[in-house]
This record gives sequence, structure tokens and C-alpha cells, in this order.
Amino acid sequence: AIGYLNGKIISSNDPVLPIDERGHQFGDGVYEVIRVYNGRAFMMAEHMDRFFKSAEAIKLNLGKSSGEILEIVHDLIERSGFRDCDVYMQATRGIAPRNHLFPNVPASISMTVKPSKYVDEEIRSNGAKVKLLPDERWQNCWIKSLNLLPNILAKQEAFEAGALEAVLIREGYITEGSSSNFFIVKNGEIWTAPATNHILHGITRIAVKEMASELGIPLREQAFTPDEMFAADEAFITSTTQEILPVVEADGQKIGDGKPGKVALKLYERFLEKI
Ligand code: PMP
Repeated sequence: AIGYLNGKIISSNDPVLPIDERGHQFGDGVYEVIRVYNGRAFMMAEHMDRFFKSAEAIKLNLGKSSGEILEIVHDLIERSGFRDCDVYMQATRGIAPRNHLFPNVPASISMTVKPSKYVDEEIRSNGAKVKLLPDERWQNCWIKSLNLLPNILAKQEAFEAGALEAVLIREGYITEGSSSNFFIVKNGEIWTAPATNHILHGITRIAVKEMASELGIPLREQAFTPDEMFAADEAFITSTTQEILPVVEADGQKIGDGKPGKVALKLYERFLEKI
């Protein structure tokens, strides 16, 4: 697939990074994943806003305006020839001899555009299983940092237990998934953890809030426990690549009747109209 690195169009397989790259050595950077539907990037403004917020939070000067970055993204999408694709965008603190202190070099900006990878058909129709695991991440999960080790370890452990996603628990409360936001539905009301520093402020989460409001479904941003999740009528996760995905089982125990929930399906239907 096609890619971009610091002003050049590349193939995503090209060996382009020097060893002394801070993303490579420290994970010293931030990223975004944006989905393109029929040639149009979904909620692009929100993604760009979060990209700049993440960069600012780690004191990384991107050296480009959002307009300039948008121009690169749109050019790359067009060159890719794909109508339905995922854009991966990353910025790091650049290329400099290894030293913890910030170097005085320009940020590295890279991107790839690849055909969208959709959720497995069987899981899309029957719902996903999740595994509950401790949230071992740092205090700034709202920053979309390249440092994903706790997320990767949790996702892998969930996968090895036959689940699609790890759902994380901090101090007794569910925060979010390893790569998704998490929701329950109880008595017709949607609950999700508040947008504190302990979760990523998901763009699909924003879309769910808007759609819930349009559909007249109450949504509470309130933390809840695993017990409250097990007592819920339904659950679902959201992310750019998994969209809105019903969750039917956690740790081998059914949630609700063990089938994709009505509210999740209604939101997903609405989502498909929007994209
Ligand atoms: N939380 C985490 C930890 C994530 O990695 C993601 C996926 N980027 C999300 C939530 C969902 O965010 P979004 O809807 O913006 O993809």
C-alpha cells in the first residue's frame, strides 16, 4: 500500500526509517487512525483536532498546520485509488542520536493508506466476546500515544482466551477496551465512562453521543463496575475500525440474553446512514 514520510510518497513496505528515530526507539510520538468511506474521511475534523491535542500534550511541534496535513492526507487517499480505506497517521519527535532529552530537530510525520479491515462477519452478526483485565496503563490515556504496550499485552491475553477485546478495569471501574470505548445499556439508558484522563476520547464515542441524542436515547457518562456490566441489558464497543460492535459475553458469562442488543443495533444502523 501507499505511504508518506516527511514530504515523500513511499510504498508502505519501503525500509525508510533510520535506527535513530524516536518513534522506533522510545515510542516518542502520537498517532491517529481515520476511516474513509466511499472516498470520504469520517469525522476528519475531530481526528485532526485530537491529533493536534495529543501532539501538544507531549510538547511535540508538528511543524505543519492542520490544513497542510489535511492536504497531504487527501492527496494520499487519492493516489491510493482506494475508496474504502484506513489512514494511519503518526508524528514522532524526529530523527536524532538516542538521548532521552528532546532533540532540536523537526518532527517526523508519516502515513499509510490501506484498504479497510472490517470486523469478521461472524462476530459482526453474533456479537463479540470480551475478557476483563486490569488497566495497567499510565495516567494520560487521553493522549493517543505510540506507547501501546499495556494495550497490546491485554489484547493478546484476551485473544488467547478466545475473546476479541480486553475490557480494562481501574480501581474497580471499567475504563474502556484495549483499542475501543466501552458502553452498556440498562433500562433503555446508555452508560459509558466519562471522558477523563483515564480513557481515550474516542471519535466514534462522540458519534454515539450525537446519535443517541438524535434518537432520543438517554446517555450517561458515568463510570460503572463489572457487576453493573453483568447486570446490564446489553453492551457494545466503539472504535474507528470496529465501528459500533455489540458485546454479548464477558469472561464466558452472557451479557443480557447473549445476543446483540437492540440499542447497539439501532446505533449501528444510524451509523451506516451517516458514513
Ligand atoms: N480507546 C482506545 C484505547 C483506542 O485505542 C481506541 C481506538 N483508537 C479507542 C478507544 C476508540 O477511539 P476512536 O473511536 O477514535 O477510534
